[in-house]
Amino acid sequence: MKKLLCVCMILAVMLGLSVAASAVDGGSVTVEAAGDTAPGERISFIVSISGSEAVIDCEVLPLFDTAVFELKSTRWLVTPGRESVNSVTGGAVAEWDTPTDIDGELYMFTLQVRADAVPGTATVVSCDVSVTDQNGDPVQYQKVTKASVDIRCDHSTYVQKEDDQYIATAGDCQTPNTYYVSCAACGEKGTQVFQGSAPAGHRFENEVESELYLHQSGDCVNGASYYYSCAVCGEKGTETFVGAVSGEHVFEAKVETEEHLSDPGDCQNKREYYYSCAGCGANGTETFVSEKKFGVHVFDSSCDTDCNVCGKYQEPVHDLAEEWTADEEGHYHLCSQCDEKVDLEVHIPGPEAMAEEHQVCTVCDFVLAVSDEHVHEYSSDWSSDEKSHWHECPCGLSKSDLAVHSWSLVDTERKDVLIARCDVCGATKEEPVTDIPDETQPTYTDPTYPSQNTVVIQREESVNVAAIVLGILLGLSLIGNGVLAYLLFVKRKK
Ligand SMILES: [Zn+2]
Ligand SMILES: [Zn+2]
Ligand SMILES: [Zn+2]
Ligand SMILES: [Zn+2]
Ligand SMILES: [Zn+2]
Ligand SMILES: [Zn+2]
Ligand SMILES: [Zn+2]
Ligand SMILES: [Zn+2]
Repeated sequence: MKKLLCVCMILAVMLGLSVAASAVDGGSVTVEAAGDTAPGERISFIVSISGSEAVIDCEVLPLFDTAVFELKSTRWLVTPGRESVNSVTGGAVAEWDTPTDIDGELYMFTLQVRADAVPGTATVVSCDVSVTDQNGDPVQYQKVTKASVDIRCDHSTYVQKEDDQYIATAGDCQTPNTYYVSCAACGEKGTQVFQGSAPAGHRFENEVESELYLHQSGDCVNGASYYYSCAVCGEKGTETFVGAVSGEHVFEAKVETEEHLSDPGDCQNKREYYYSCAGCGANGTETFVSEKKFGVHVFDSSCDTDCNVCGKYQEPVHDLAEEWTADEEGHYHLCSQCDEKVDLEVHIPGPEAMAEEHQVCTVCDFVLAVSDEHVHEYSSDWSSDEKSHWHECPCGLSKSDLAVHSWSLVDTERKDVLIARCDVCGATKEEPVTDIPDETQPTYTDPTYPSQNTVVIQREESVNVAAIVLGILLGLSLIGNGVLAYLLFVKRKK
């Protein structure tokens, strides 16, 4: 026997090397059972082979689950020359002196189902078959059809097991489920029904759209969500469903973006926003104060240096003209926003005035002193400022016909302002209604004003001349005009 096993092992090792050269490639083994079986019963298996050539020996080894079966008997279905059997495993060897064809039914073994095998299960039974062909080459069959055997249950004992798979009718929070009985051995569902021991629980099946079950408010585009409720007792569940869309705005969202801004606030006060509809973003009428967003500092313009609220300083950004603007004071760049004279510096006098050359500022060409031969010639156009009008010589140093404006009211549709126009030079001005009355009176209409007179204004050493001229004017006792001249004089001296 040991010798045999040894040979088998050698054969098995060689098999791996020789399968390709096998004479029975494509041969097959089929194991067939006589039917199903039950604990305690016996069942026989027939092993057949096909596709093999003549052999000189054959070894079989039944394969089964020893927890389920116990070997009872074995029998060759061919006539072996010599044979040996292992009565525990059912393994057997047959040998022939001359090559013998053994296709067809080969071997039979009978198993008994153990008493403690689990009924209602299936188990698989197979058989290893290996042969030595007439050339002395070992061969093992590759294609094996196994037998599947059901271990029947006679369902001798049914029990009342409350498991979901046995539910016959569903109960609820007030009624238990009913269940089918089940086989104690295999668990198969019986036909008898019994009632469960306790109520089954709520049936959260109802979709009721009421405040009571509200989970989350909807809005004009989104339906509200609600909790399911128990179909029997109305208890609120934990799962939710989405209800119908009401189509109405719900102004509850607090969204702090520009489109919802109601009050921009400032550096001391937080911004305010409208509550909005989360569905469509529409603004409601109620507002809320931002918890964190302040407004910004308030400046009148980019030229304004102090915040109107907190006084914080900002670096002014003027809108400066590129060219120099010049007056007696000096030259500077004028801001179009605030009239501030930026980069103001005194004129830098060029060469003294000559016979034909003015003395001008080397930076801005402002005439500082006229040439000796210069004779003032006055433009026919009026020049003017807020108070007065005059004819000016292009040299900029002499004004003729200087007089204050002679304001008259202009008819206008507007109610908020009064518009006045100077009868002489055509200059206009607007005043808010409350401020205008006094100003609109034609204050300076004295016909004796010396319109032919020339007021010569010259810098520095010329001041005395100007003073003399002004003195003459005063001497003429033209009080109103004299005061004006005096003012001009004072302004000049500053
Ligand atoms: Zn059963
Ligand atoms: Zn309920
Ligand atoms: Zn909406
Ligand atoms: Zn501020
Ligand atoms: Zn400015
Ligand atoms: Zn200058
Ligand atoms: Zn001139
Ligand atoms: Zn005027």
